[in-house]
Amino acid sequence: MQRRRAERRGSRAKKVVIVGAGPGGLANAMLLAQAGFDVEVLEKQAHVGGRTSTISENGFHFDLGPTFFLYPQVLESIFSSCGMDLDDEVDLIRLDPHYRLLFEEGGELEITPDIELLKKRIAALAPGDAQHLDRFMSDNREKLAAFKPILESPMESLKDLLGLSLFEMLPLLRPWKSVDQDLSTYFQDPRVRLAFSFQSKYLGMSPFRCPSLFTILSFLEYEHGVFHPRGGCGAVSLAMARAAEKLGVRIHLNEPVEEIIFEGRKAVGVRSSTGVRTCDALVVNADFAHAMSHLVPNHLRKRWTDEKLERKKFSCSTFMMYLGVEGRLDDLAHHTIYLADDYRQNLREIEDDHVLSTQPSFYVQNPTVTDPEMAPQGMSSLYVLVPVTHQHPNVDWTRDTEDFRKVVVRQLEKVGIDDLDRRIRYEKILTPSHWETEQGIYRGATFNLAHTWGQMLSRRPHNRFEDLESVYLVGGGTHPGSGLPVIFESAKITSQLIEEDAQRVKKKTFLPFRSGSQTGPTWQQGTTMQASRATDAATGGMSKTA
Ligand SMILES: Cc1cc2nc3c(=O)[nH]c(=O)nc-3n(C[C@H](O)[C@H](O)[C@H](O)COP(=O)(O)OP(=O)(O)OC[C@H]3O[C@@H](n4cnc5c(N)ncnc54)[C@H](O)[C@@H]3O)c2cc1C
Repeated sequence: MQRRRAERRGSRAKKVVIVGAGPGGLANAMLLAQAGFDVEVLEKQAHVGGRTSTISENGFHFDLGPTFFLYPQVLESIFSSCGMDLDDEVDLIRLDPHYRLLFEEGGELEITPDIELLKKRIAALAPGDAQHLDRFMSDNREKLAAFKPILESPMESLKDLLGLSLFEMLPLLRPWKSVDQDLSTYFQDPRVRLAFSFQSKYLGMSPFRCPSLFTILSFLEYEHGVFHPRGGCGAVSLAMARAAEKLGVRIHLNEPVEEIIFEGRKAVGVRSSTGVRTCDALVVNADFAHAMSHLVPNHLRKRWTDEKLERKKFSCSTFMMYLGVEGRLDDLAHHTIYLADDYRQNLREIEDDHVLSTQPSFYVQNPTVTDPEMAPQGMSSLYVLVPVTHQHPNVDWTRDTEDFRKVVVRQLEKVGIDDLDRRIRYEKILTPSHWETEQGIYRGATFNLAHTWGQMLSRRPHNRFEDLESVYLVGGGTHPGSGLPVIFESAKITSQLIEEDAQRVKKKTFLPFRSGSQTGPTWQQGTTMQASRATDAATGGMSKTA
């Protein structure tokens, strides 16, 4: 089907290999196949979705990573540009309430998208703060509108930023302020500020450090909703894989890329357990820093050498418990966030001291209240996430896991989950060490490079990867950043760049080009389809569907 699409356009399909079938890789595969490219995705695991997949054991289903599906508009636009409808593929359930916040210092807040009701709830907690909610909403509406063009453009240099009248945006974006400082112009009660700022944890950052731009995260929730995809967020990845295959993409599971093959700085193929696949362009969806340090020789990199990566700031990690529990927990909300008394101290322990807290903040998802099929009848599937330091010598998870598990089980009593040990029927724990070794995530930093100003926009690894030729990035490690909506944006930006580069090359009569630090591919004519067929034959048609 995909080859026919390319033939209709009167050109031979250019071959793109994508390393990794995470949400970024899958969305990119859909868009490239729709544009007429010959696309193969190589995935090292036995399933698609990467961090956005589902753990299914003994009738219990758990999201592995993402549980908040926000701003579906970006993925909807990807499906519709491929002639499909996301709604036909995934049942997105809009939650109300969004979540319940419990403050250890006292008080709680049930967050609803009904703004008038939310004002009443805020007033019950902090009477003076409710009146400023409308101003917060309208300011952030404006902020998002101003920032959207930045999120949708490649941002390869400072020039790109200046072209978008950054200076006019400065008073709105206020880069000199943190999320918490910005919120203090609206809300005086620290608990209310936390209700609008804990979302910076979606980026793996503290609201006291996270750039104030990211107040748009809580705004996005109120304005556009919080969704639960029926079956979990992994259902979204499966839907993308189905869509990609309908468009002609070949997804090869259980096929880790072991090496990227270069001619000079130009990637010309990959070597995997089944042999060599050549390509005209290579897209890396695997965790950026891990992939660079494992798949690309250090001497080929300039800006992102191993030594420079070492000095970058990385997000926090997460300690995860996936628990199949006897009995239903109907009083526990779909999402509950428990904020420790000394939240600042908790964050310092994670980001500065790199030690485990004795009273950590945590988050619990109890999806069976919305989606009963997530657990066997009369049972519950609980997902517990505790933000912790990324891998650091201060914590040895082979030594510390058992004690920290006890701390977390004790904390869970504070949200009404009692007698847990007796009721557990299934249990899986993931520590930063697992994220690093099993999932291939640099330092186990689950949310990639931190989103500081120094590591954002043109200072984040570029979608058209600046250190190499014919190599592109997609996913949380590149621009615009981590979190599903922006990861889908990265897929749009990257496929657009690949299309532009291919078009540019087609217009030239001889092989192009390399000007300055921005590079594009030198597309190979004619050889790759044959090579890929040969590889397929050699692997005995190994590609498996998701
Ligand atoms: C615990 C947790 C909670 C999160 N919660 C949310 C949330 O609620 N909402 C939200 O929007 N975002 C959330 N995120 C962030 C983000 O949306 C997800 O991490 C997302 O899955 C990242 O997508 P990605 O495309 O960057 O790559 P990944 O999901 O990391 O996928 C990369 C893929 O590459 C594969 N791969 C790696 N190396 C190779 C190789 N050598 N060869 C072949 N394949 C390879 C991997 O196996 C993987 O399948 C969360 C993340 C985590 C970890």
